Amino acid sequence: MTILYRSTRGPEEQTFTASQAILQGLNTDGGLFVPVQLPQIDLDFEKLAQASYQEVAFQILRAFLSDFTDQELQDCIDRAYSTNFDTPAIAPLRKSQNGYFLELFHGPTIAFKDMALQLLPHLMVTAAHKNKITKDIVILAATSGDTGKAAMAGFADVPGTKIIVFYPRDGVSTIQKAQMVTQKGENTAVVAITGNFDQAQTNVKNIFNDALFKEQLTRNNVQLSSANSINIGRLVPQIAYYVYAYAQLIKNGAIAAGDKVNFAVPTGNFGNILAAYYAKLIGLPIGKLICASNKNNVLTDFFQTGIYDKNRPFYVTTSPSMDILVSSNLERLIFWLSGKNAQQTRIFMKLLKETGTYQINDAMKRQLSDFYAGCADELTTSNEINRVFREDQYTIDPHTAVASAVARQYQEATNDKTPIVVVSTASPYKFPNVVLKALSGKEAPADGIQADETLSSFINLPLPAAVENLRHAKVRHNRVVAPEHMQEAIGEILELH
Ligand SMILES: *Cc1c(COP(=O)(O)O)cnc(C)c1O
Repeated sequence: MTILYRSTRGPEEQTFTASQAILQGLNTDGGLFVPVQLPQIDLDFEKLAQASYQEVAFQILRAFLSDFTDQELQDCIDRAYSTNFDTPAIAPLRKSQNGYFLELFHGPTIAFKDMALQLLPHLMVTAAHKNKITKDIVILAATSGDTGKAAMAGFADVPGTKIIVFYPRDGVSTIQKAQMVTQKGENTAVVAITGNFDQAQTNVKNIFNDALFKEQLTRNNVQLSSANSINIGRLVPQIAYYVYAYAQLIKNGAIAAGDKVNFAVPTGNFGNILAAYYAKLIGLPIGKLICASNKNNVLTDFFQTGIYDKNRPFYVTTSPSMDILVSSNLERLIFWLSGKNAQQTRIFMKLLKETGTYQINDAMKRQLSDFYAGCADELTTSNEINRVFREDQYTIDPHTAVASAVARQYQEATNDKTPIVVVSTASPYKFPNVVLKALSGKEAPADGIQADETLSSFINLPLPAAVENLRHAKVRHNRVVAPEHMQEAIGEILELH
């Protein structure tokens, strides 16, 4: 079965192969690539329960990425998921009193974006060969902290690629900033902006849509692409860990094949939870998808009312990767709920751009019942870190804590006894100050790596290698620009003429 892709805003007849969609990132009409139809996969759970992470990923990738050969996918997977992760399980499950945590933070940047971004560069280079691209591929990314670093870690020194990352100067943690400004690789550039993540993301989108700039890039033998979670090459690899987690639960005897499982996902740009939704659509027995937000609860309101409204205050929280007012990947859900209606999707997205708000119709709203949405404020998040530590002897990061708290809200509100897997998106060592304060009630004595050391002795677990390595790393990037000067910065970095 060949799976082709189309734009959420374009005609169904205008199709793209998987490799074209990965290379292009975003369609020229501003729409996101989605499969024209979903693949039919035979999810043989008895077999999958015995499969390694790499084998599960292979099954999923070959179903979605039709124009890649098995050998190509195998090569990409071998490079992506190996000793760069600190556990052979890649995505281990941990039991808790309330259910399970799915740990997605064992890659080089100790957060879940590694799951897709260790793979994407290899998919992209393979896709370029397939499409006989000779231009340099330049990855542009806006990051609220984790994506940018994870993308750079994936692309650093990959031949034929360059990567430029923009992050909000005052919107990332000390460790995240340290990780970014010390990034190695001659093909990497990091730029701080004096604005927030949404401004960075909006401007990156506008730069992608700027026809004149595109011509200039072409003259310079350069082609833009995206590593943000809008790239279908990010989304598809994320489906794999939902299937893997489910299969592991069968293996452990926690469930029988066919039993339902709920997933609670700390959500920002809606990429991670959309992958779970796709997993459900291809037949994974998922009950509820629990969409967890922090104080920036635009999605909670959307799922409860059918009205998306970004006209609201923006909060900088202790879970910065979820500080988002425009969740880009929601467009793919909107498109699906509309019955794959590109015209309607286009209208909603135009309204969003021009007025900041849109309202879906009742038929679409009824289909939101696959989801439960809730939010956790700062105090609830902090209390949850503390509770899990006391009751489970386990330390979670603030993003995971938001999901954990909302999972409990869901259980209390519904009395649903279906097992819940809380998706753990970052190591607590990525946010040591917040975690230490939640655990001890006291401010950490210092910031950054020293705070990590304090945390390490408090919870009596060694520092991950990813943190150890930061200790002696040299600062290599110190460019700061205003949000409206991002395009000029790109011109300088690429030395465009
Ligand atoms: C990116 C990120 C999220 C949000 O994931 P989305 O796919 O954007 O919804 C949550 N937690 C962490 C730690 C992240 O890095």
